[in-house]
Amino acid sequence: MDFNLTDEQKALRDMVRDFAAKEIAPRAQAFDEQGAIPKALLDQMAGLGLMGICVPSEYGGAGMDYLAYILALEEVCRASASVGLAMTVNNTLYGDPLLRFGTHEQKLSWLAPAARGERLGCYCLTEPGSGSDAMALSTTAVKDGDGYVLNGSKLFITNGAISSQAIIFATIDKSKGHKGVTAFLVDKATPGFSVGKKERKMGLLASDTCEMILENVRVRADQVLGKVGEGYKVAFSTLDAGRIGIAAQSLGIAEACLDAATAYAKRRFQFGKPIAEFQAIQWMLADMATEIEAARLLTYRAALLKAEGQGRYTREASMAKLYASEMGNRVASHAMQIYGGSGYMKDYPVERYFRDARATPLYEGTSEIQRLVIARELLKETA
Ligand SMILES: Cc1cc2nc3c(=O)[nH]c(=O)nc-3n(C[C@H](O)[C@H](O)[C@H](O)COP(=O)(O)OP(=O)(O)OC[C@H]3O[C@@H](n4cnc5c(N)ncnc54)[C@H](O)[C@@H]3O)c2cc1C
Repeated sequence: MDFNLTDEQKALRDMVRDFAAKEIAPRAQAFDEQGAIPKALLDQMAGLGLMGICVPSEYGGAGMDYLAYILALEEVCRASASVGLAMTVNNTLYGDPLLRFGTHEQKLSWLAPAARGERLGCYCLTEPGSGSDAMALSTTAVKDGDGYVLNGSKLFITNGAISSQAIIFATIDKSKGHKGVTAFLVDKATPGFSVGKKERKMGLLASDTCEMILENVRVRADQVLGKVGEGYKVAFSTLDAGRIGIAAQSLGIAEACLDAATAYAKRRFQFGKPIAEFQAIQWMLADMATEIEAARLLTYRAALLKAEGQGRYTREASMAKLYASEMGNRVASHAMQIYGGSGYMKDYPVERYFRDARATPLYEGTSEIQRLVIARELLKETA
């Protein structure tokens, strides 16, 4: 596997690193306190092509590969995991399934405006009664003439309030289990579709997380994404791609922790010397750096497999997500330890990194679900 980046990938990574350092990092704490990402920033990112990195130019995107996207996402998350989350939902959870399952007309109407950043998208799978067991969802789609009528509610939806369009998973027949689940493209302006409770979270405070309510929402037959009864294919293959994004988000947070902790260890003096001279601190820094490199290799490998498009990469995506998200939490904890009491205070960014990192082993499949997926794939291979 060739990890040498192309000139195009390097140029994108460097451009985004520079942009994130100037436009996002200095304001990330303020976004957190305001509980929102300024629309002007999302527009600026869209102008740089960051809202549809892998979408071909004919559909409004930057036409780059999946590793390029992962490199860009890592840099944005290094500055703000909340901003990175808005970006990854639009690019992957919303954009990727449209790219793979959408018709040409659907790509023109539903994907292109999202890739241009004019109408952001969200992905509505989780419900009050179904999280890890996603296919046990209860939102219904009842046939009505040529179309369907949707009823139900969705929980913890990222970009729920700031988006204009959504992918909604609903069942046409609950007795069919996962084979009843169907994916629908729904405009937020459709009568009966509304945003419910805005969640009050521990971290990722600038990211928008909402309940979404569907009450007799009418959709046309051409709003089915993929095939009727094959929503499970749309949902799970999208999560494979999304998990690589969460691994990149974890990497970005961990790198920010390492940068901050290294600088702090050099400038904080105790017992007459910088704490960086104590071996206990050096070992934490060494472990942090080593774990970040290991997570990076897993993440880039999964991204390359997806970019090459030569088959499934479910196991590699789950491994990257599992390891990187748990690594991010260990690294954030070390960073806080190196900062001592100051790390617990909101005057320093490590407190935010620690809270943001905690979400990564929870969403797009918990760590337990990643282990289940990895074990299932392993057992299949050795059958
Ligand atoms: C900040 C945030 C943003 C989110 N954004 C979105 C979004 O945009 N769209 C969306 O659809 N969802 C979103 N989610 C939902 C997220 O994907 C779910 O929270 C996640 O899948 C876990 O589901 P759950 O919360 O219902 O936990 P549960 O499924 O109830 O799990 C509870 C516990 O049981 C464990 N568990 C469950 N089943 C098993 C099993 N078979 N074996 C072992 N352990 C098991 C879990 O690992 C966990 O520890 C978001 C969540 C958060 C926190």
